Amino acid sequence: MPATRPIFGGMATILDGRAVAQAIRDEVRERVELLAQRDRRPNLVSIQVGESEPSRAYIQSQRRACAEVGILYSHVQLDPGVSTRQLAAHVRGVCANPEVTGLIVQLPVPERIDVHEAYLAMDPAKDVEGMHPHNLGSVMLGTGGLQPCTALAVRALVHAADVSLRGAEVVVVGHSEVVGKPIAVLLLNEDATVTVCHAATRDLAAHTRRADVLVVAVGRAGLIGTEHVRPGAVVLDVGMNYLDGAARPVGDVRFGEVEPVAGALTPVPGGVGPVTVAMLLRNTVAAAEAQAGGREAARAR
Ligand code: NAP
Repeated sequence: MPATRPIFGGMATILDGRAVAQAIRDEVRERVELLAQRDRRPNLVSIQVGESEPSRAYIQSQRRACAEVGILYSHVQLDPGVSTRQLAAHVRGVCANPEVTGLIVQLPVPERIDVHEAYLAMDPAKDVEGMHPHNLGSVMLGTGGLQPCTALAVRALVHAADVSLRGAEVVVVGHSEVVGKPIAVLLLNEDATVTVCHAATRDLAAHTRRADVLVVAVGRAGLIGTEHVRPGAVVLDVGMNYLDGAARPVGDVRFGEVEPVAGALTPVPGGVGPVTVAMLLRNTVAAAEAQAGGREAARAR
């Protein structure tokens, strides 16, 4: 993994998400093995309502990654017509199963479903995507625990780029609950000066051009070009856009155009995506460890 940024004038350092992810998976595999020796192998359940193209790719990579590190993974596809109440009941039922150590509700859900009800129905100790209000509250308090995976991935890649966040100008484009907001708070917790932009932001480029670290999480292919990037900035592209049914996604950043200007840049695919999946594995093993510890402590009493 490259540790330093080039002096502006060359091409950006490409931040290799696959290498960062591999290191995390190696650590997770060892922790899973220790749990398996105690008959406590992590068991992750994915619940999806209906189907969608982006989540199909995400589910495939979750399944592969879990198999690689020895985490049990099963996927439940609910009828696209289920109600919010039925989804919440299903989530509650899965969480009540002592054999299950982690749960994911795949996004997007159909618009008529209130996904907050599904998050509230989760056992926070099994919420490996960090979306229960208890876990989001821990992000605000900076107390650790199960935190949203994409935000953890972005922070890990900023660290891999060897950037000191203290006092750095960070601009996050996109303020979704799952991605943009948690990223902003995690980086704020490291004493960055964080600006959050969104669809209503006037003059996006005026903000993004100030960024030492620019994080783009919008879902619009090619939104960000050279006019948005300060020379030498570290640019993290979270976007994954599937154009015309293409098998490979493209990012929100015009990669070829920004590469000669940025100091460091994540590719799509191969940047934030694989690290997000690795963070899901790390959360899953951490949740299973906490539950195994709790059960053993209870037996000892
Ligand atoms: P989302 O819920 O649709 O949120 C998109 C955000 O972008 C919203 O805050 C929206 O603002 C803002 N936005 C829309 N148009 C904008 C514009 N022209 N200028 C500035 N901001 C604009 O999407 P999401 O779930 O956060 O995901 C964002 C992207 O990341 C998607 O491509 C998704 O596939 C990808 N993703 C990648 C990973 C990964 O691991 N790489 C993980 C999760 C998601 P308003 O709310 O004000 O409209």
